[in-house]
Amino acid sequence: MAAGDAAAPSDLPLRMSCQAAGPLGAHAADTVLARVAGRRPEPLRIGFVALCLSLGRHDGIFQLNRRDDSATRFHLRGRAGAGVKELICRGTVKQMTAEARRPGTFHLPRFLQDPQRDTISGG
Ligand SMILES: Cc1cc2nc3c(=O)[nH]c(=O)nc-3n(C[C@H](O)[C@H](O)[C@H](O)COP(=O)(O)OP(=O)(O)OC[C@H]3O[C@@H](n4cnc5c(N)ncnc54)[C@H](O)[C@@H]3O)c2cc1C
Repeated sequence: MAAGDAAAPSDLPLRMSCQAAGPLGAHAADTVLARVAGRRPEPLRIGFVALCLSLGRHDGIFQLNRRDDSATRFHLRGRAGAGVKELICRGTVKQMTAEARRPGTFHLPRFLQDPQRDTISGG
């Protein structure tokens, strides 16, 4: 079982990112629990929503992506880009804290799911 940057599920690697690593960790745990219970694990449907980068506190870029991680034309630059990136960083820490307090609460929201992945990876 592998999750995070080290994993290439169904030989279809996801971009090395916390965006993928968080859901991959949760999915790995669910897969182990399903196998222990003798159930068929759910297919992996992790998709992407954006790519972002901050250059210090006041400059950055937020690029909206499609679920297959290809870029759209929409992006925010400068202070706005850095602001969104900051919100995402805070959200990531919040999410990890919530999961540590109540394990199993994380669920991949629909807007972060890529149903096409099943088709591409063959399930
Ligand atoms: C500077 C930097 C900036 C980044 N910025 C972003 C970003 O803005 N957005 C984004 O989506 N992603 C970003 N990433 C990538 C993101 O951090 C990684 O993709 C993500 O953390 C991968 O998660 P992981 O669980 O696979 O690995 P990690 O988070 O690296 O966790 C691996 C853990 O295993 C531990 N470990 C290693 N070897 C052993 C061992 N032998 N025994 C026990 N424990 C061990 C390590 O100490 C570590 O805690 C950034 C990465 C870096 C380095």
